[in-house]
Amino acid sequence: MLRTAKTSVSSSIANNPSDRAANRGGRTRAYAILVALVLGSALLGIVLSWTAFGRQIDNYAYDFLFRLEQPAPWQPSSIILAIDEKTLARYGGINGMRGALAEGLERIRDAKPAAVAVDIILAEPGDPAADARLEKAFAGTKNLVLSCDLLPDASGWEDPIERFRKSAIAVGQVHADLDKYDAVSRDIPLEKAAARQRRWALSLAAFAAARGADVVESPDDLTVGATRIPSSIAEGRVLRIRYAPIAMGGIPAVSIAELADHPEMGARFVGKVVFAGLTAQNAVRDRWMTPYSNGVIMPGIEMNANVYETLARQAFLTDAPAAWVALACLLLASATGAAYAMTSGWLVNAAAVAILAASQAVPAIAFAEASVWPWLPGTLAAGFAIAASAAWRHLLVRRQLATAQSEKTRYQKAMQFVTHEMRTPLTAIQGSSEMISRYASMPEAKRTQMAQLINAESKRLARMIETFLSVERLSAGQLELKHERFALSDLVETCATRARALAERKNIEIAVAPLPPADLIGDRELMEYALYNLLTNAVKYSPPETRVSVFGEDERGDRVRLSVEDQGIGMDKTEASRIFERFYRTKSAEQSGEAGTGIGLSIVEQIVVTHGGRIQVESEPGKGSTFTMTLKSAAHERTA
Ligand code: ADP
Repeated sequence: MLRTAKTSVSSSIANNPSDRAANRGGRTRAYAILVALVLGSALLGIVLSWTAFGRQIDNYAYDFLFRLEQPAPWQPSSIILAIDEKTLARYGGINGMRGALAEGLERIRDAKPAAVAVDIILAEPGDPAADARLEKAFAGTKNLVLSCDLLPDASGWEDPIERFRKSAIAVGQVHADLDKYDAVSRDIPLEKAAARQRRWALSLAAFAAARGADVVESPDDLTVGATRIPSSIAEGRVLRIRYAPIAMGGIPAVSIAELADHPEMGARFVGKVVFAGLTAQNAVRDRWMTPYSNGVIMPGIEMNANVYETLARQAFLTDAPAAWVALACLLLASATGAAYAMTSGWLVNAAAVAILAASQAVPAIAFAEASVWPWLPGTLAAGFAIAASAAWRHLLVRRQLATAQSEKTRYQKAMQFVTHEMRTPLTAIQGSSEMISRYASMPEAKRTQMAQLINAESKRLARMIETFLSVERLSAGQLELKHERFALSDLVETCATRARALAERKNIEIAVAPLPPADLIGDRELMEYALYNLLTNAVKYSPPETRVSVFGEDERGDRVRLSVEDQGIGMDKTEASRIFERFYRTKSAEQSGEAGTGIGLSIVEQIVVTHGGRIQVESEPGKGSTFTMTLKSAAHERTA
């Protein structure tokens, strides 16, 4: 008996309308929280990657991929004419640099290089003899590009003096914009303006000179001949430098001193774009770190040659569009949320690993496709989403466990109450029957009285069991409702009379106001159970010497409203929204000392709803409550 009752009670929990609504509400809230967590994770990932720290980390990730995805070696179309330590030593140090450069240019002239870019600032006159020699060497150099640099205060350009300038086809700037956080040279501005004068980068100017073309600009890119260079104005016309891989040993270089010793080496300059400049470690002031350098620095002249190679090979690395990155973050985070919402066990762990792997694979695959995809936003979005979703799951499961636990305790309490209630008539039956059999000489009147008691108590027990079974079957949807017609006033009268026996003990008056002459259609026994429950609750949860009123009114002709009003302990709004849940009891009801299970009202609601009606409560703590049932009247039945 106990076991069947238990399965029946727990299996019908979800069948109660209030319990169902509470479950649905809880689930919707839980999923809304998950969605918020997932979106928050994606947003946090994106926002954190915008910070200086985030950008720095992304730069390191870029450097890592840069080293990982080294391009295959190629035949460079540029060469460095180097003023190295040996050259400086032979030509009298820095002061002899112009003479050395002139010598170098004279020695490669016959090789007819495609262009010669000189990365030495010639803004002031030097030794007259050397200047004259250099001027002459320049005059004999085809496609000469000279360099200029920003003045230290950026107020203008340090341009070559006119005697040199006049032989140059162009002047390019050699200002290197290093990363502002770690001074690594990852890109350069192809265009720079100062004092309203705009200059192309030296390497771009040399590229254009070698091709005999102009640089044509549009907001999104620059075009030289047939080469389109993606570098938008919006992003400062920045070009990521694709440095020659380590396997190539950098851009080939021939030192001027070497060239003087071995004039035949001039052949290496045939058709090449020549970058002439200082490489001597002790003399070069522009030396930069690159993603490859690992602490070893690169002279500016080699960096310029690398920019040139990037242009010549059209090995452009472009940034992935920010909107795509944001979308990917959103996808990763949403996939995580969906995985945690829909799967469990090892599957959810596998999904988390797969999502993390995807967040790592995207930047690597994109880089292989020459698109720079930031590593941090996706990694953070996936990581945060996994952590948040796992926490959500953990808390949700814990809450479900707690709910199940409290339902179980409430159920046990209810069972205790039920068995206790049944024990009372059983004890009476047992006692009376024993007395009858023990005292054979019992007076006839006494015997009859006892037999009547046994009869009444067993009937009460049977009714109790019947009611419990009915409501359980009703909850499980197994009960056929009877279809009887009865007067509203009869129903109220029966219940009020029964409840008065209880009310008298507390000196509570049950007053029934005149009722509309309506008939109801349905299961009278269950309707009695419902109304009787409302009345006994009103009596139970009211102090002595108060009043319980029953009143009713017609509503739109086909419905009646029946209310039970008390002056009892009442309840607040949150409690009022939960009392129809199975096993729920308010705090003040528990403290009142009145025995209860919290089942009654859930059954009442079930009965009313099954009859096509509804039940509401209005209450104020300490003031009292009014329970109102709205029921279909027989008039409705006739017209329907
Ligand atoms: P119980 O067996 O606890 O009376 P019910 O399902 O009938 O179970 O009622 C659920 C809870 O609703 C009660 O425990 C009590 O907290 C609250 N309640 C019901 N009726 C009233 C009322 N008339 N006044 C105040 N509280 C009430």
